[in-house]
Amino acid sequence: MYDVLVVGGGPIGSHVAYKLAGMGYGVVVLERKEKLGEQVCCTGIISQECVDSFAIDNNVILRQVNSARLFPPSGRLLRLWRQETQACIVDRAAFDVAVANRAQDKGAEYILNSLVRDIERKDDTVNVEAIRLGETLNFEARAVVVATGFGSKLTKRLGLGKSRDFVMGAQAEVVTNGVDEVEVFFGQETAPGFFAWLVPTSPQRALVGLLSRRSPELYLKKFMSALLAEKKIASTEAELSYGGIPLKPLAKTYSQRLIVVGDAAGQVKPTTGGGIYYGLLCADIAANTLNRALQNDDLSAKGLASYERQWRRKLRQELKTGYYARKFYERLSDKHINRIFDIIISNGIHDTLLKAEELSFDWQGKAVLRLMGHRAISKALEMMKIPFHLGEGR
Ligand SMILES: Cc1cc2nc3c(=O)[nH]c(=O)nc-3n(C[C@H](O)[C@H](O)[C@H](O)COP(=O)(O)OP(=O)(O)OC[C@H]3O[C@@H](n4cnc5c(N)ncnc54)[C@H](O)[C@@H]3O)c2cc1C
Repeated sequence: MYDVLVVGGGPIGSHVAYKLAGMGYGVVVLERKEKLGEQVCCTGIISQECVDSFAIDNNVILRQVNSARLFPPSGRLLRLWRQETQACIVDRAAFDVAVANRAQDKGAEYILNSLVRDIERKDDTVNVEAIRLGETLNFEARAVVVATGFGSKLTKRLGLGKSRDFVMGAQAEVVTNGVDEVEVFFGQETAPGFFAWLVPTSPQRALVGLLSRRSPELYLKKFMSALLAEKKIASTEAELSYGGIPLKPLAKTYSQRLIVVGDAAGQVKPTTGGGIYYGLLCADIAANTLNRALQNDDLSAKGLASYERQWRRKLRQELKTGYYARKFYERLSDKHINRIFDIIISNGIHDTLLKAEELSFDWQGKAVLRLMGHRAISKALEMMKIPFHLGEGR
């Protein structure tokens, strides 16, 4: 019998496996894919804080970022710049493999090609059923970690519900004509309610993508044609990949002998859809909680409840502010967005925020509140009749 069985060999499942195997537990990871890191749809932008906190392997970092060019629908450029590196772009496939290698080096076992179909919890063990190359495999463990990413049916089957709000993303790798800064594009015609991006990964290549509640493929093709017309990219011929992003966490992320972590739990920044850093932070909490529970041989729901208390304490305010900022943004017309950008630029609000420590890549709540609370912005919102209230919610 294993101590812990992790379902899903993405970065978050692998990080939990790495931590627990490093503590001396017998860990197995079941991954449905044939190869780790294949078919990932992700831009791979993580903060410098994330790189430092989790000692991300230099070999997977494609580029460091200390600036970004933001474009409202009017096209008026707002450039954000700081002296120090703010974020890094990782090769997402290589990153997944690197985190899994770390776990394997600590002794975690990986079984690929294995789709977990059923998890049955008993008083003293968990039975997991997986299908591998047409064969049914059965595993026994003391506890299970569900790290299956967005859209898994397992959480619902386990009585923990499913993501209550989400957005779809589409992305492609393209050849560029010398784009060397991250570019972000706003506007209801470009990416309704969300944003589009052009992220250079090497001198000649970039990831182009967007998030949208509807038809991401259509909007991405339109966006790529616009970039081609501006000569920013060399061609629109590219293979598109798709992925979902949860905007709200599950109502409950633990149960007897069970913890849900990462995108499967909805531990994602609702403003940008970035889930790697928050997922890793929660993976640490999950591993520490399981360590205590395994030591005390108390894997009851009560024994694991501190996992949820701790991760919510860490992220609650950010998730709440980010979610309401997101809902607010979704209600803006292009005219509103242009107006807000104009106010920010003419009042130098971005410069003030960039000087303040509050504006950090991962912890945006205070910056959002400061931005919305700025006299010129709140006056304009009042005139545009767009109320901004932080409502209640988890
Ligand atoms: C277009 C797009 C761009 C993004 N860009 C960024 C970004 O720049 N920065 C950032 O931080 N985040 C980004 N994200 C989000 C990021 O990709 C996720 O937050 C991250 O992948 C979450 O990791 P995870 O391990 O929880 O899930 P995943 O990476 O989805 O891994 C889950 C794994 O579980 C496996 N699995 C699922 N079900 C089963 C099963 N039943 N049995 C066995 N295995 C199973 C899957 O095959 C997968 O390998 C982006 C997302 C999208 C869609």
